[in-house]
Amino acid sequence: MLDKVLIANRGEIALRILRACKELGIRSVALHSEADRNLKHVRLADESVCIGPASSLESYLSIPAVISAAEVTDSVGIHPGYGFLSENADFAERVEESGFVFIGPKAETIRIMGDKVQAIKAMKAAGVPTVPGSDGALDEDDEKNIAHAHRIGYPIILKASGGGGGRGMRVVHSDATLLNSISLTKAEALATFNNGMVYMEKFLGNPRHIEIQVLADEHGHAIHLGERDCSMQRRHQKVIEEAPAPGISEEIRKEIGERCAQACVDIGYRGAGTFEFLYEDGEFYFIEMNTRVQVEHPVTEMITGVDIVREQLRIASGMPLSYTQDDIVINGHSMECRINAEDPNNFMPSPGTITAYHAPGGPGVRVDTHIYNGYRVPPYYDSMIGKLITHGETREVAMARMRTALGEMVIEGIKCNIPLQQELFNDAGFQTGGVNIHYLEKKLEEKEKVK
Ligand code: ADP
Repeated sequence: MLDKVLIANRGEIALRILRACKELGIRSVALHSEADRNLKHVRLADESVCIGPASSLESYLSIPAVISAAEVTDSVGIHPGYGFLSENADFAERVEESGFVFIGPKAETIRIMGDKVQAIKAMKAAGVPTVPGSDGALDEDDEKNIAHAHRIGYPIILKASGGGGGRGMRVVHSDATLLNSISLTKAEALATFNNGMVYMEKFLGNPRHIEIQVLADEHGHAIHLGERDCSMQRRHQKVIEEAPAPGISEEIRKEIGERCAQACVDIGYRGAGTFEFLYEDGEFYFIEMNTRVQVEHPVTEMITGVDIVREQLRIASGMPLSYTQDDIVINGHSMECRINAEDPNNFMPSPGTITAYHAPGGPGVRVDTHIYNGYRVPPYYDSMIGKLITHGETREVAMARMRTALGEMVIEGIKCNIPLQQELFNDAGFQTGGVNIHYLEKKLEEKEKVK
């Protein structure tokens, strides 16, 4: 087992990683910016080191600063969490070159998955269903590009190969705007992602977002832990996640899950990962792979009993998976609400000091958060301050527990999105289950109109 791990992140995920390290008897090192001295995990870690000023660019995103922190503390492994440097192939490479263990896939895998054209190619080769598209980057041949669009059929979506965070995409409805849109999207992609490669895909009208969690070790074993439904999104940001996805049968889960697990073996995947799909009319369409632990991993943990972060640490230590596919049994249903320090009406971030905090509890309730009474939410980072997760034998029970838990949770001194989450858990459409990725935005638009 790794002897000492540097936690290269902040907030709730840093605390989550710290807890897993403690359980495994791994010594922990917390790094932090000058604005984050009071983070809960910094207080609880065996050692801590300040790596720079508040600005993420000079702290959490600084590769030299993170590597130096590992060096001065004699860390063995580096856990990148999510966001920040977690999907930066250059970082993973530097970590390994400097003699540390990167707790994640190989740098080359991250590089392939970070380039969507290459990722789709790799997935097709591995038999994972993809969206009908241009099968590669678009070139300057106008006739060929028009032919692609006709073969796929309008509407199509143009996407930047190096894109991320929901940016670099443009929907096109007819020949009239196609060529101009391709030039525009290419120019934007070059300016934003320093990579002008653009490809074309069928635009799906009303898909759901369903993703498959996988784990793979270095001994050629890979398993899947079923799916999550993350269709409740605003501006491509997930707001509520759940597992399993409503309406997905045991057979469908087995089929798509096994394909993803097999793809992991084929591409030599290592660690935890997620295959993201759009799901429409009973078909899965791969859109991207996340090569890291995800915010929403707890809902999968709740229904499978697998500790995903512990498995990440074991895999990085060179150990085999603790489970075979047959060990994985789906038990009940789990929901997760992201708790954000923001105005629930206009979504403006709301940093500041938390003057009162009361955590909910009871059967089937889990709270993953770093906040505490008197904690000051800094203005420099993502507004997510925690996650409220419930579990129950059925979806209805998990939802009822969420309503109760949201009602118990008190966060004062700053604004947060608990009122919005309460509204969503009382929404008839969401209660029925299986809503598509536009559902939440449409609901919010309606609300605006009424005002
Ligand atoms: P990013 O890496 O920027 O998040 P994704 O490829 O994951 O990009 O796509 C982000 C979102 O854009 C999806 O969740 C979906 O809402 C929308 N999207 C992407 N591809 C398509 C498509 N082919 N049809 C419809 N919507 C799409």
